[in-house]
Amino acid sequence: QIPGHRLPLAKYGGRHTVCALPGDGIGPEMIAHIRNIFSFCHAPINFEEVQVSSSLLDGDMDAALLAIERNGVAIKGNIETKHDDPQFTSRNVELRTKLDLYANILHCVTIPTVPTRHTGIDIVLIRENTEGEYSGLEHETVPGIVESIKIVTREKIERISRMAFEYAKANGRKKVTAVHKANIQKLGDGLFLKVVREMSEEYKDIKFEAMIVDNASMQLVSKPQQFDVMVMPNLYGNIISNIACGLVGGPGLVSGMNLGDKYAVFETGTRNTGTSLAGKDIANPTAFIRASVDMLRYLGCHYHANIISDALWKALVDQRIHTADIGGQNSASDVVNATLQNIEKLMEEHPKH
Ligand code: ADP
Ligand code: MG
Repeated sequence: QIPGHRLPLAKYGGRHTVCALPGDGIGPEMIAHIRNIFSFCHAPINFEEVQVSSSLLDGDMDAALLAIERNGVAIKGNIETKHDDPQFTSRNVELRTKLDLYANILHCVTIPTVPTRHTGIDIVLIRENTEGEYSGLEHETVPGIVESIKIVTREKIERISRMAFEYAKANGRKKVTAVHKANIQKLGDGLFLKVVREMSEEYKDIKFEAMIVDNASMQLVSKPQQFDVMVMPNLYGNIISNIACGLVGGPGLVSGMNLGDKYAVFETGTRNTGTSLAGKDIANPTAFIRASVDMLRYLGCHYHANIISDALWKALVDQRIHTADIGGQNSASDVVNATLQNIEKLMEEHPKH
């Protein structure tokens, strides 16, 4: 349940049009699986596919942004960002900031048949997605001296905190943990902590705690069951989210929503390209399929969301169709085909009326 969410209006003949941005690496084959699953179960979604990759020109990025603005909703693979060329800033970051997708939300839950060190994990990670260390303001004042500017604003901290508490309230969650480093970053993280704490006063039924990011990392890998909802500034949120995804089985399993007041973009939680896996039919399609389920829920298509989600769960848990990343020998197509067969049975048992 997404707080304050209204259904998007872009609908024609009872169908929604959404953007599909395949991106690089495994993105294109994963989007193809999703299109296959959606058409198989007659999900009322049309796709407008838009190509963006690291090597495209500025005009192409503008076309992608325009398409998302028009449709309101997108599902997206990751766009490769070269590390070594300062000219190439991340297209992924550009997309999130230009569309003001201020909240990145991941739900990390233990899947019973996936081998992991810890069980019983159920954590919602809410990350500020537009400012902080990702402000993109860096310069070399004189050779050998670089200033890298982290910008934080009360306004943006307020809205991410609001999202965290409203999400907790709407989903029956008990506790919100704010992750920070206010002992060192006294002003920047100090403001973050102050604003989240102030907001917690408005939500008396939800327990609030603050935890320093280094301790939060240690607590996560030793006692992850203690966490419920976590709210974080941008960079810590990125790292903590990846730890949490790793805890429940890795990059192939968890989806991530990017939400703003106007638009929503659905991705995998860890935002990998998986370039080394591309074209081999070996990448785990679970994270992308879950992203597509998140998108269906957002669009109010609950019947199809539930059918696909249950069918995938049956394939992973009851039938143990596992790709190599979670210790199995199945291909991505095996997971998708098992999911399709389960969808067929579930739709017979529970027809849509
Ligand atoms: P690369 O771009 O070099 O493939 P990434 O940074 O994209 O690496 O991904 C990090 C790691 O996660 C890699 O080992 C990659 O193989 C793995 N990975 C990413 N996505 C998936 C997936 N869907 N299924 C299994 N492994 C994945
Ligand atoms: Mg990569």
